[in-house]
Amino acid sequence: MTNLELIAYAKENAMSGKNLDRESIIQLLSISPDSPECEALGKAAREVSSIIIGDKAYISGSIGVDFTPCSMNCEFCSLGEKWGIVQKEVKYTDDEIIDKVKQFVEVGASRITLRTTEFYSPEILGVLAKKVKKNIPGKYELVLNIGEFDLETANRLAEFGVDCIYHTLRLGEGKNTKFAIADRLATMQAVKDSPLKLNFCVEPLGIEHSNEEIADRFLLGCEYGATRIGSMARVPVKGTPLADLPQISERRLAQITAVIRLASGTGDVSVHPPCEQAVAWGCNSLCIEIGANPRDTEYVPDSEWKHFTAMQAKAWFEKYGYKFCNKNE
Ligand code: SF4
Repeated sequence: MTNLELIAYAKENAMSGKNLDRESIIQLLSISPDSPECEALGKAAREVSSIIIGDKAYISGSIGVDFTPCSMNCEFCSLGEKWGIVQKEVKYTDDEIIDKVKQFVEVGASRITLRTTEFYSPEILGVLAKKVKKNIPGKYELVLNIGEFDLETANRLAEFGVDCIYHTLRLGEGKNTKFAIADRLATMQAVKDSPLKLNFCVEPLGIEHSNEEIADRFLLGCEYGATRIGSMARVPVKGTPLADLPQISERRLAQITAVIRLASGTGDVSVHPPCEQAVAWGCNSLCIEIGANPRDTEYVPDSEWKHFTAMQAKAWFEKYGYKFCNKNE
């Protein structure tokens, strides 16, 4: 099949609610991001967003709970203890987190993630999640992005009122991180076997990753029943081992996101960092971040990361013909 024939096929396939096969995903990822064919790919992805998700768009909020050194030392993360970037440990208090959740709910976030370093206690976060849900009513989903855990902990987190877990097998896992692949997969399996939903991104995408690796990560997310799959670029952080490897271009990130849109039968598709071209090409979910951030050397407790606000996200959605949805109303 030519690329244009494959784009037409992938669009039809997505509209019938099916995932795309590995070889087709790889061929779509192989299209040059600056080519007219990639424009056609993006246009098809945007049309799929119209048809299968009715142009509905969402924002989510992510709260980096602790700015503390993490002994896992992932080579792309500013919080790695070995890189010596975190000089002073800081973390939000419970009241500050509740306040941030409230602010996200007020601007219409559908999902709010509490994100921590690897060894933050799930039990403490579970208790906090219960407190958050009690204090801040709404139809938002509460997500945790934390370290590894087993099925017993997954069930307990669900009892506390946690709705979803963000977890993934990162690109370069076991090479740019010291995690055992089996441990990361075991956590995703625990989520799958529990009442919790799985949110998943193909990340941290860099120029070092092949189309085959990207396709395989996407398919892994599908295999583990992820209810949402997005793309996330690696941001080179000064002082980390991968600092000198450049970030992928906005068009490449938008292309990968468009392929995920075409390859996913259902569900929302997100991109991070926020990328306007990806919204033009079918991405319907954007994340606003605050607090500790593995993509930054600075701790930003009081303003949005890179000043990307809910207002900006909504403006992009409007510009590209989406209807912003606030589930909390
Ligand atoms: S990515 Fe997570 S596990 Fe790895 S060093 Fe950063 S906080 Fe720790």
